[in-house]
Amino acid sequence: MSSSFPHVQPPRRVLMGPGPSDVAPQVLAALAAPTVGHLDPYFLNLMDEVQQMLRTAFQTKNKLTLAVSGTGSAGMEACVVNLVEPGDKVLVCVNGVFGGRMADVAARYGADVKTIERPFGEVFSTEEIQKAVEEFQPKVVGIVHAETSTGALQPIPEISKVVHDAGALLLMDCVTSLGGLPVEIDKWNVDAAYSGTQKCLSCPPGLAPVTFSDRAVAAMEARSTKVASWYLDMTMVRNYWSDQSRAYHHTAPINMNYGLHQALRDLLEEGLENRFARHQRNHQALRSGLEAMGLKYTVAEEYRLPMLNAVTIPDGVDDKAVRGQLLNDFGIEIGRGLGPMAGKTWRIGLMGEACTQRNVLLFLAALESCLQSAGHHLTPGAGVGAANQAYSNLSA
Ligand SMILES: *Cc1c(COP(=O)(O)O)cnc(C)c1O
Repeated sequence: MSSSFPHVQPPRRVLMGPGPSDVAPQVLAALAAPTVGHLDPYFLNLMDEVQQMLRTAFQTKNKLTLAVSGTGSAGMEACVVNLVEPGDKVLVCVNGVFGGRMADVAARYGADVKTIERPFGEVFSTEEIQKAVEEFQPKVVGIVHAETSTGALQPIPEISKVVHDAGALLLMDCVTSLGGLPVEIDKWNVDAAYSGTQKCLSCPPGLAPVTFSDRAVAAMEARSTKVASWYLDMTMVRNYWSDQSRAYHHTAPINMNYGLHQALRDLLEEGLENRFARHQRNHQALRSGLEAMGLKYTVAEEYRLPMLNAVTIPDGVDDKAVRGQLLNDFGIEIGRGLGPMAGKTWRIGLMGEACTQRNVLLFLAALESCLQSAGHHLTPGAGVGAANQAYSNLSA
């Protein structure tokens, strides 16, 4: 018997969108290692190491730090559902798709949700958050550190102070920032944070690193109702991840944890500071190239994410045609605009493994070709030339 279905044979892409990002060969190899049982001593030890490396990545000593089974959104849901009981007041700062999603998740679990909003591409000031927490007196304030839907970076430390002065817990989305920008959980005094494997950690989608402060754990222990999600209930999940009881809850995605282990090893081997510097360097060169081609960023310079470059699509250029040609002729994936940015922006990712000089130069050359096909006038070679110049200035 032979199957009429083909083997899995995906095309080779350069993933320069909002995630997933390119995955290193050694991470793919780790995923293909032999599966062991979820209580096998080998796996239990590997879980401990994943936790230790996650603490370094999050820059925290938090004991309750682990990888939730599921993508970044499962991490979001895990943080919300463990901190919130029906009727609890939650303030969510919405300046993009993911802030909006956090508000939706909190409302579904019965929270009394209030949102404050900023247009896509902007960030919140400390003053407006201070005013909102003083008026609303929430139990939890949710905010997105790196809004992948817009390319905006939200400064956190001062906001953390006003949130805590008002007696609230701070919940932070660092799905896109972890592994690409400093995420300092302890120094910034963040109570709960979640990330995902598929952005700057450069592992396929499938796990969601989370971390909870002692204050967050105390709030969980003071609950009067059960956590509304059985699967994501940290009071049970943590017994499996902790060193004593190893109580069975659900079977961990064994091979995904192998992949995350390898991706975290790669992160620590490169070093956090070097990793952040690499993201800045390639972002600066890409920016020089894009600007030399006449493209404009949608986010003000001081709040731009290095790993997610949102630019305005030039007048008269067809969004889908350009993205289609990039994919079909060059194998390059970039992201489209979301929400009010749909059809108006491109989102160019430089995340983790995909954040290289090679990709920056390849992309700029390919984009020139696609813009020319779209009838857009530009100076040949301007983008690649400016990026090369930026690289030599940056290394001087
Ligand atoms: C990607 C992303 C998510 C959701 O992660 P999934 O892995 O798609 O579930 C949440 N927040 C931000 C900021 C993201 O970029």
